[in-house]
Amino acid sequence: MTTHTPMMQQYLNIKSEYEDEFLFFRLGDFYELFFDDALKAAKELEITLTQRGGGKEDKIPMCGVPYHSAENYIKTLVDRGYKVAICEQVEDPKTAKGVVKREVIQVITPGTIMEGNMLKENENNYLASLYFIEDDFIVSYVDLSTGESFVSKVNGKIKDVIGELYNRPVKEVVLPTDFPEDLKETLTHYLDVTLSSEHENHIPEEFQKLVTGLDDTRFIRGFGYLFQYIYRSQKRFLAHLQAVQFIELDDYMKLDLYSKRNLELIESLRDQSKKGTLLSVLDKTITAMGSRLLKKWIDRPLLSKDQIAERHQQVHTMMEHFMERDELRESLKNVYDLERLAGRISYGNVNARDLLQLKRSLGALPQIKQLLNLFDHPSVSSLLSDVESYQEIFEILDSALAENPPILITEGNIIKDGYHKQLDEYREVNRNGKNWIAELEAKEREETGIKSLKVGFNKVFGYYIEVTRANLPHLAENRYERKQTLANAERFVTPELKEKERMILEAEEKSTTLEYELFLELRDQIKSYIPALQTLAEQISKIDCLLSFAIVSEENNYTKPVLKDEQQLHIREGRHPVVEQVMKEMFVPNDIQMDETTDILLITGPNMAGKSTYMRQIALMIIMNQIGCFVPASEAEMPVFDQIFTRIGAADDLVSGQSTFMVEMMEAEHAVRHATERSFILLDEIGRGTSTYDGMALAQSIVEYIHQQVGAKTLFSTHYHELTSLDKSLPKLRNVHVEVDEEDGEVVFLHHIKEGKADKSYGIHVAKLADLPGDIIQRAYQLLESFEATTVLREEEPQEQLTLFEEDQGTLPLTANIEVIERLKKADLMKMTPMDAMNLLYQLKENL
Ligand code: ADP
Repeated sequence: MTTHTPMMQQYLNIKSEYEDEFLFFRLGDFYELFFDDALKAAKELEITLTQRGGGKEDKIPMCGVPYHSAENYIKTLVDRGYKVAICEQVEDPKTAKGVVKREVIQVITPGTIMEGNMLKENENNYLASLYFIEDDFIVSYVDLSTGESFVSKVNGKIKDVIGELYNRPVKEVVLPTDFPEDLKETLTHYLDVTLSSEHENHIPEEFQKLVTGLDDTRFIRGFGYLFQYIYRSQKRFLAHLQAVQFIELDDYMKLDLYSKRNLELIESLRDQSKKGTLLSVLDKTITAMGSRLLKKWIDRPLLSKDQIAERHQQVHTMMEHFMERDELRESLKNVYDLERLAGRISYGNVNARDLLQLKRSLGALPQIKQLLNLFDHPSVSSLLSDVESYQEIFEILDSALAENPPILITEGNIIKDGYHKQLDEYREVNRNGKNWIAELEAKEREETGIKSLKVGFNKVFGYYIEVTRANLPHLAENRYERKQTLANAERFVTPELKEKERMILEAEEKSTTLEYELFLELRDQIKSYIPALQTLAEQISKIDCLLSFAIVSEENNYTKPVLKDEQQLHIREGRHPVVEQVMKEMFVPNDIQMDETTDILLITGPNMAGKSTYMRQIALMIIMNQIGCFVPASEAEMPVFDQIFTRIGAADDLVSGQSTFMVEMMEAEHAVRHATERSFILLDEIGRGTSTYDGMALAQSIVEYIHQQVGAKTLFSTHYHELTSLDKSLPKLRNVHVEVDEEDGEVVFLHHIKEGKADKSYGIHVAKLADLPGDIIQRAYQLLESFEATTVLREEEPQEQLTLFEEDQGTLPLTANIEVIERLKKADLMKMTPMDAMNLLYQLKENL
């Protein structure tokens, strides 16, 4: 260390406290990065890597970005999950003795960004912390851009924590320094988050008042880590942070990690985009706040029948009054992102245009309130309250802010005339001066007779009178003072002109300074209204979401569900909300009937028939109902479900090194262990990932277990035909199948769910549709016939050897060719090349 120059020593000292971050070290007009930071940043930012020259330091890698364009570079790094510490010169280099003093003034991280252009408009930006104690995970959240903060408690496993965090836009998770490494790995495997660590869990004094409402000390400790981290990185208290709320997860429908992913509620499985998700169908919100709230609603469906019914009522009322509704949507366009605006006010980085936006938003409220009243229903008119109190803020802003202020708050022209007496006086002086000068031109032209005489201004010489060279002879000697000579003109001044100029400039300077002060004052004054603005933001977002439901429900012909106290599910002509968008009237609606005599529907039918679409559409309708939206059906009677569990065959976990089968079993385990009789379980082709005997055995025992021990409403699709006979031993299990027609030897998928079991496997038909060579198809038919013959024959044999299941031993094919059948069944013909298929056939034949 001693071999370094004093400045490098200073750098290394500071860097030792910010090892995780890129340290942006201010040197004059640049931020410089050194050592490993430089190597990494040069690569990430595609900027030139140099070396620090001179003396012993000529080997230090270095790169830099100009101060004025640093923001984009910082954004790039933070977008990629990195953290950036901004180190500024904190004393004037001119007066500094020795090395200029430098300090880190802010750490910018994915979870703490505040700048408008770094944030996604329609998305929250959460910083979370995780803290494990007494078998519970305490999960604390803050969104610094909106001020929202809450805490929840998850019992048990890290997977449940991931389920809780999934679908929330959590960008960064703060962990205690001793958090186990393996759990960290699991976290980053499932979630795209930056991990940070914090050793202290003491709540800084300024933040204390935010946690006074929490009665569990564990929550307070959890927030200790989070607030410490914020305090250390932001180096300030943020006035817009709201008191921490405890979110009781038991108050909302539970959706485990798998269901959140599989049902593609907010993010698609394929590319994590919004396309093809439930959100994409439901989101017709006007404001960014509304769009953010909608995501929260989808992530946390309600459990309270009353609350659900109230939202239904609101949506219904909004559908009935379509004129008012459309007008209301129009007026919401005038409301800007109040939540984030409140955040920026507190952070101290709003400009005059932001405040003008705030004023416009507030100005729209009386009309919004009036429209809400026109709906003529208390559930709607009560959506916006206390409009009068917002009028107060409106008036303050209206009296102070100019109509068209510049973005920069140091340029003047922010404050309205008549707001401040002194300012008006400066402006008067300025205006008078300018008028005098404007009149000067005409007066001098007349007196000198020189028509091209001009009065102008430039930054160096100030105001001047300009006469072209050709006209100089017409000018009386000593009329003006010579100031500047140009190629074909001469510039002059007069003592009066200089005096006016001095007055104008002085008044301008004073008024700009005063305006800046007045603006800061105004900003502080508005700061005290932050809680009111946050309440307003909440109300507006809710109106926006409900309007969105009303629009979507009307456009797509959704129906208002009848809420049942009993666990009974009746849906007539139900549709898949997302798939129907693409297929339009081609989509085949389907019914479902599950009353107290039916807990399990066993769904059979060939691949591609529509089994999983059917199952998903029911799950999505349940969620839509419980967030308060109408559902895609012609009639619906629905109970309130406490949880949804899914196992849908997406082999998406291969990356984690777990086999598809293991994932399948984990999901099933999760379902049977946590489901209650008020839950909904959706199991698609369970047991597919292992050998036939194994798979079928597991599938059957899982169905039996759910039937006997859980009693949850369950949809179970299977390609194990043998399971259809379970209806004989399990009274609450019913068979349904997807209807398929055959025309001239071709399969026609009708996508229609009917009572009873499917009677034939259509795998080979599908293969034919996929255009596999005719030889293969024919041979497969031959083989199938011979398998079927063998199976039937064997089925008639006594079944003593078959001891897999106790109650119903069903119709398991006991054949020497079981291996062949099994491989044929497992073969995914759609994914095979003709050559692969030939090889398979060849091998199968060898085995016969
Ligand atoms: P399975 O689970 O039986 O293999 P899917 O549910 O994946 O079948 O459906 C296969 C395809 O059939 C879907 O991609 C969709 O295009 C079409 N489909 C499914 N259900 C319907 C329906 N009710 N109406 C129209 N088309 C449907």
